[in-house]
Amino acid sequence: MNNIIFFGPPGAGKGTQAKIISELLKVAHLSTGDILRKKLLDQDKLANELKAIMSAGNLVSDDILNSIVASRLNKEVNNGFILDGYPRTLKQSEFLNEYLYETSNSINYIINIQINFETLKSRILKRSSEESRDDDKIEVIQTRYNEYVNSTQKVTELYKEKYSNIFYDIDGSLQIQEITEKIRQILKKS
Ligand code: AMP
Repeated sequence: MNNIIFFGPPGAGKGTQAKIISELLKVAHLSTGDILRKKLLDQDKLANELKAIMSAGNLVSDDILNSIVASRLNKEVNNGFILDGYPRTLKQSEFLNEYLYETSNSINYIINIQINFETLKSRILKRSSEESRDDDKIEVIQTRYNEYVNSTQKVTELYKEKYSNIFYDIDGSLQIQEITEKIRQILKKS
């Protein structure tokens, strides 16, 4: 089974790789950022609340994320999935563990794409001119990076410790094709 988690700071290229790999493996690509951005189009009360949080670069509440992920995983859990942007907090990782346990599933690969702050800053600014995302502004990038360091990086380290046999660090400063190739090698190996 191909159940994969992609970790990495904003701008590391995990969304790009998760999409490529999901197409290669024919499994669902669950990007929580994409799901939330779609939700913003509803323009209802929840969308307005989400917009304020996301455009400031802060994390959306665990309850909202956990319920989004559970409902999507219910559909995909038997066919394989890639989680891109989740779990980002310890509470989310606990929820995921519980969910996988209850549905007799597990994660098979964890890919952590690493990149330094200067490189990701210039990447995100480049993306902002192409995609016009509200949160790709220079002043918001620092907040998003801080959220990563203060919360998600800790979750990543925990997974690395607990699941060292399926955890793979990858250098995110490489070219897109090189990173894809490295991931393909990892998936082939085990
Ligand atoms: P991303 O596209 O993954 O960079 O996500 C964009 C924004 O969506 C983040 O800056 C958060 O505001 C929100 N978001 C996405 N995934 C999560 C998550 N797992 N937990 C909390 N907030 C999230």
